Amino acid sequence: MSRHQISLLAIAVAAVTALAPSPASAQPKKAPVDCEQVKCIALTFDDGPGQYAGTLLDTLKKYDAKATFFLEGQYVKSRPAFVKRMAAEGHELGNHSYSHPDFTKSEAGKIRSEIQKTQDAVKQAAGVEPKLLRPPYGLADLQVSDIATEFGMPMILWTGGSHDWDTKNVEAIKKKTLEVAQRDGIILMHDWVKQTVDAMPSIVKTLQSKGYTLVTVSDIVKRQNLQPGDIFPVPQGWER
Ligand SMILES: [Zn+2]
Repeated sequence: MSRHQISLLAIAVAAVTALAPSPASAQPKKAPVDCEQVKCIALTFDDGPGQYAGTLLDTLKKYDAKATFFLEGQYVKSRPAFVKRMAAEGHELGNHSYSHPDFTKSEAGKIRSEIQKTQDAVKQAAGVEPKLLRPPYGLADLQVSDIATEFGMPMILWTGGSHDWDTKNVEAIKKKTLEVAQRDGIILMHDWVKQTVDAMPSIVKTLQSKGYTLVTVSDIVKRQNLQPGDIFPVPQGWER
């Protein structure tokens, strides 16, 4: 295609975008973040969408921050509008099972159906399929890894936890999150914890003032070249 054709195409796309009520597919694509140049961090929210996801999305939008949501299929079913909005606003959607069983204590068939039902629910709600798996409780073994391989998904754990589900205290969540924050870090949080959502404006502002860009997990792991079934960061004692 010539440059002229491409620019005509761009004008056509822009015209359509201006007329359409901006579905996710028509959002202007930003240049991808390069975490080698930029000080990146990924906040991840598990088990949702939780009931406070709307407020969290408002905060992320206000500060132009991206996050990753490891969704539980049963709540995708009950709160599909949040999932649609997450995708439309540039956040990443990951698979965190359908009903949160410990995969290392589950039969293969159960694990497969937990993953598949969640893939289907997210696809139905947001039109996209998760590309990353976070096994419930961050627990995986070789069987889980093999099944993740079948689904073409690497498994993503975290470099630091906010302990939000434990403390349920705004100041404690902020303190712990900032303590474990590091360049290219992946931070575990939960959008069903009200105090986490309440702490977010202050956490985001503070991280940004320290030079962080809040990005998705895929932005962070781009350089790792993860293959389906891989786990990152690799937990102690893990051998493939
Ligand atoms: Zn979980």
